[in-house]
Amino acid sequence: MDSKFFKLIQRDLKRRFLRYPERYEAIKRSRVKAPGINKRGKEFMKTHFKCQKCGFLIPDQKELSVDHIDPVVPRGRTQDDMTLVEYVDRLFCSTDNLQVLCKKCHDSKTKEEQDERRKKKKLQKLREVIGGHTGN
Ligand SMILES: [Zn+2]
Repeated sequence: MDSKFFKLIQRDLKRRFLRYPERYEAIKRSRVKAPGINKRGKEFMKTHFKCQKCGFLIPDQKELSVDHIDPVVPRGRTQDDMTLVEYVDRLFCSTDNLQVLCKKCHDSKTKEEQDERRKKKKLQKLREVIGGHTGN
């Protein structure tokens, strides 16, 4: 998939994903009641969202990330070698593949996946160079 074309529609797709019912379902699943403090400084039972990796109770829905357990762009691949249909299909997956993570856990998982992709790309390039020299 051409990256210019992809960037053009990626934002729109992600915006649609925010309103995707299966995503809400994953958020609903992560809800737990835990003590919180209201504006007047009184304790009350507040809805939190439990990070499915570290167990942190996220107090604000705006701070959670809904993560694709099996990432939208499969591990070791890039969006360049995906078709749009494949990408959309994997983005709008079933709720079983979605989990709520705190920002810290989501960032580290994303970084891990990106590192893997970078390594794979480097390896591919290296193979091309080697392949070019041996004539294969
Ligand atoms: Zn976490």
